[in-house]
Amino acid sequence: DLYNKVLELKGNIRVYCRCRPLNAQEIAAGATIALDFENDGELTIKSNGACKRTFKFDAVFDPQSNQVDVFRETAPLATSVLDGYNVCIFAYGQTGTGKTYTMEGTDEARGVNYRTLQELFRIVEERKKIMHFDISVSVLEVYNEQIRDLISPEPPTGLPAKRLEIRQAGEGMHNVPGLVEARVNNMNEVWEVLQTGNNARAVGSTNANEHSSRSHCLHCVMVRGKNLLNGDCIRSKLWLVDLAGSERITKTDVQGERLKETQNINRSLSALGDVISALATKSPHIPFRNSKLTHLLQDSLGGDSKALMFVQISPNENDMSETICSLNFASRVK
Ligand code: ADP
Ligand code: MG
Repeated sequence: DLYNKVLELKGNIRVYCRCRPLNAQEIAAGATIALDFENDGELTIKSNGACKRTFKFDAVFDPQSNQVDVFRETAPLATSVLDGYNVCIFAYGQTGTGKTYTMEGTDEARGVNYRTLQELFRIVEERKKIMHFDISVSVLEVYNEQIRDLISPEPPTGLPAKRLEIRQAGEGMHNVPGLVEARVNNMNEVWEVLQTGNNARAVGSTNANEHSSRSHCLHCVMVRGKNLLNGDCIRSKLWLVDLAGSERITKTDVQGERLKETQNINRSLSALGDVISALATKSPHIPFRNSKLTHLLQDSLGGDSKALMFVQISPNENDMSETICSLNFASRVK
């Protein structure tokens, strides 16, 4: 079954595709669904008469799947984290396809971030006679190749925000000096941290939605474990990443600040694609240093870490060209 498949570490990167449902406006406008989900793990683009194209992934979640269905296939990674593996889970796709819905979710339908932490605490409790674990969480944003701490208090108005950089802190260990690591002991504390991070995202931007579609939002969960029987220690890191929108914006459409933003998004997402395909083809050189995003995630991509990418797509015929771009991006991994 899939549970064992994930633990077995067949490949270090797996790809799940999730398609959102049509929304009320699209239905009212008579939009049609241009995708077929007939076979497990497959999705087919039915373009009116023209050639059909089928994509295969480790799992495909059709528009009817809910957060529980998605988490059932994600939960084993929480065990991996507590076993000492570095893990990275991220959502890729065009703005409006459900990246934030999958990762963060809503109050009523919580996403992967909350559920993974809940699963971590469940297993910590289960193992408490043998292991002692410390868990802390950082929340940060990468916008225009700059890292911003989302849980440290903002500096007084007028003062520049703390500049955060990535340092190598030993073999295969990177960190961001100065970044707040909030110790969490239970899910109430987790919820508080997640809310604080969320609220900070909107600060200083005139349009919170636009800002969040142009920046990467990252949660880093750091786990330190000590075996109470033999004293062995483990350290692992779990990244939960809601990426900036992958939609292509042509340079002729934007100028000034928007152009810089667009170039930075394109650069970091293509750097991520390059890293993932270099890992998939076992290339001797993995270009982690080409963007802040890939540099941050370095410890949790490659090596014996485990990565999971959600490719988020729209079912709408009108979005088909972006959908195909996202599916092609995801296919580079396999
Ligand atoms: P993104 O973060 O990729 O820009 P969002 O997560 O904000 O997209 O999703 C856009 C809208 O679609 C939101 O209102 C969200 O609640 C809704 N949505 C996305 N995916 C689903 C889903 N699987 N089921 C129900 N609603 C969804
Ligand atoms: Mg979003």
